[in-house]
Amino acid sequence: MLDALTQRLSSVVKTLRGHARLTEDNIQEALREVRLALLDADAGLPVVKDFVARVKEKALGQEVVGSLTPGQALIGVVHSELVALMGGTNAALDFATQPPAVFLLAGLQGAGKTTSAGKLARLLTKTTKKKILLVSTDVYRPAAIEQLATLAKNLEVDLFPSDTSQKPVAIAEAALDWARKHYYDVLIVDTAGRLAIDEAMMAEVKAIHAGVKPIETLFVVDSMQGQDAVNVARAFAEALPLTGIVLTKLDGDARGGAALSVRQVTGKPIKFVGVSEKMDGFEAFHPERMASRILG
Ligand code: GDP
Repeated sequence: MLDALTQRLSSVVKTLRGHARLTEDNIQEALREVRLALLDADAGLPVVKDFVARVKEKALGQEVVGSLTPGQALIGVVHSELVALMGGTNAALDFATQPPAVFLLAGLQGAGKTTSAGKLARLLTKTTKKKILLVSTDVYRPAAIEQLATLAKNLEVDLFPSDTSQKPVAIAEAALDWARKHYYDVLIVDTAGRLAIDEAMMAEVKAIHAGVKPIETLFVVDSMQGQDAVNVARAFAEALPLTGIVLTKLDGDARGGAALSVRQVTGKPIKFVGVSEKMDGFEAFHPERMASRILG
């Protein structure tokens, strides 16, 4: 991801060659490069403006110390500001509740919710001793329920069978009831998505949220969606008290800037990234690593 950005910023180093310190004058061109690079990577304009202003403020008057060139010093500032923008450190999942801890996944159709539900179940099974139950509430698409059932079977994770004659909220509540009675530690609730945001979909996911009171409400978003992701994120953040973001399809030709924008628009940490179609292609999100990758 963001290879273009890395390449772009190498020219910042050249731009500032020969200057002893970063000044209002000599920094302009370099900042323009940073701005263009972020826009190219599909970060939204408001985010980019804010970001560049912060970098400028931090960089101005900085003494260029040691063996650093001014360009490297500026990239250092860009790096640390990127890390800060993405939340500083990895934000872990919250389990601090009376079990079962309910994790709700919400997002548009095709964002990667069902895949991520399976991946999350797999990750928790591998890294913890927690007993996991999966449930799908997508009564509109039997294929989605089947998809989750197949994943659960392959992963050897328990699945609560969805009765499609019931309302999604009733299915989620029945799954929670079952999870409580059978001492599950975690219930992962997959929800239906639509191709675009609509009120019925939002009302439904809100009802499920109210019904099962998840400790984690994760907004799943396709990193390839670029700027559209920002509008979708805003709508979900307004409808639901999100606790985190799952950014999928980072293995594709991802416009990484969406990561920055989605984080800023929702104010919520990216907790996981999807890096492959396969079940093991799921990682905790690390702002530091991502920033390093951005800057090369
Ligand atoms: P949902 O409609 O939100 O449940 O989306 P799905 O989980 O069905 O995923 C939609 C498509 O995206 C499927 O073909 C998945 O295999 C694919 N997908 C999901 N996450 C990733 C990812 O991290 N990387 C890649 N390459 N594909 C993914």
